[in-house]
Amino acid sequence: MSDRADGKWNVLVVDDSAFQVKQITKILETQNFKVIGVAADGAEGVARFQELGDEIDLVTLDITMPGMDGISCLKEIMKINPKANVVMMSALGKEDLVKQSLLIGAKGFIVKPLDTDKVSKVLQSVLKK
Ligand SMILES: [Mg+2]
Repeated sequence: MSDRADGKWNVLVVDDSAFQVKQITKILETQNFKVIGVAADGAEGVARFQELGDEIDLVTLDITMPGMDGISCLKEIMKINPKANVVMMSALGKEDLVKQSLLIGAKGFIVKPLDTDKVSKVLQSVLKK
């Protein structure tokens, strides 16, 4: 349960795939989350993160995106707010990038394909930290 008036956690979803965004949103909204922002690449993700500021409780961040990728986006987000709760979304076989992102400050990661159990387990554990 978040401290927000509606008790939900506010999420920024950054992913270049409209399908993934739809899927993540669907999963989150069956849980205690509300998607308050969406971005299709890293640069847009940084811009949304800056705009939404304290409204954001959590960011889901795709690693592979055209233009600014998830790793560079993560670095910028951590500069803006070193305490940001960022969870990386990656395809199988991106273990090195996942490790790198955890060193930069990501709080967790989810390997695609996504399912409700996986997503809610990881996100809840990140918010409890
Ligand atoms: Mg992608």
